[in-house]
Amino acid sequence: MIKTPDFESCFADLIAIPSVSSIDPAHDQSNQQVIDALANWFHGLGFACEIVAVSQNPDKFNLIATLGSVEQRSGLVLSGHTDTVPFDESGWDTDPFKLTSKDENYYGLGTADMKSFFPIILEALKRIEIAKLQKRLTIVATADEESTMNGARILTRESVKGDYCIIGEPTGLNPIHSHKGIIIESFKLTGRSGHSSNPAFGNSAMEGMHMVMTSLMQWRTELQASFYDDSFKVPVPTMNFGRIHGGDSPNRICAECELSLDLRVMPGMDTTELQKSLKERIQDALDNTGLKLDFTSKVLPVPPMHTDMHSEIVKHSETLTGHHSACVTYCTEGPFFNDMGMETVILGPGDIDVAHQPNEYLQQERIEPMIDVLSKLIMQFCGK
Ligand SMILES: [Zn+2]
Repeated sequence: MIKTPDFESCFADLIAIPSVSSIDPAHDQSNQQVIDALANWFHGLGFACEIVAVSQNPDKFNLIATLGSVEQRSGLVLSGHTDTVPFDESGWDTDPFKLTSKDENYYGLGTADMKSFFPIILEALKRIEIAKLQKRLTIVATADEESTMNGARILTRESVKGDYCIIGEPTGLNPIHSHKGIIIESFKLTGRSGHSSNPAFGNSAMEGMHMVMTSLMQWRTELQASFYDDSFKVPVPTMNFGRIHGGDSPNRICAECELSLDLRVMPGMDTTELQKSLKERIQDALDNTGLKLDFTSKVLPVPPMHTDMHSEIVKHSETLTGHHSACVTYCTEGPFFNDMGMETVILGPGDIDVAHQPNEYLQQERIEPMIDVLSKLIMQFCGK
């Protein structure tokens, strides 16, 4: 058995291992070394560690580390992702892969989002008598949260058992019980180019896109009239046309036009159904135009997350942190844990504002309170 090193050396080891994930293969890296390090440390504390390959990619793995026997009742799951976003080295004042203590912060890629969560779990476990826990405690470390969420997508009720889950994403020690979901869609219209002096020479993909956008904006108005939740800062679903590309010259009929959009949906809205409706709307708007339609998005939707405000995990998280649980606009792996039957709260020490930025850091004053909150949550949900 390997003895678990102290907090700072665990943290430094994880930051030193590059584990960027990206839908761009040029930036995408394996997370295997992070998973191996975590498996060694949790094994050293008596956890049974299972390393699971994430389908279709030989370089990506999840870790499921379980303490307690299968006969024991399931208790708490603590989960985090092992990957980081790509980085721009020129924007950093320190080495992004060297944990640097400066101005009472820890700097490094993944310090806030969210490699710090794992050494914090290890530290919390050292402070309680884990041999006396009555229910199973499970640690999950996932691959590819920042790109496809494929690590969380392959988890199942059979592989991860728990009644409650904490995900240590950067929330500034504020519990989060709900967030919106997201659908990203891209599609291309193909018509026929021709001299602009005679419309009969071509078939304008740009005019087709105009009809599609008009129809989608109408749909957006309908969705916003049907779904409203004022616990969100933006209380309605939104749709953003974020990127459009088409045509090359004012005197040529546009043959190709491509659009990418995102649709951010409220809890209670079904992303699979909505994606189907979205595609039907686009198709219908193009009826009788003769334009060819191709969907080009490779990104799967992330469902919205919602855990009941009265759940035990929400109530205890609120009491221990002293903050009311809130809703946020960004997405997490939370809905996949909800789908496995776990009441889930997002709660971690980092700040979302510094995540995905050069000079990402974690405030050192957040570490001790987070260790304290986690050790108490473990005792609450696994101790008796
Ligand atoms: Zn994250």
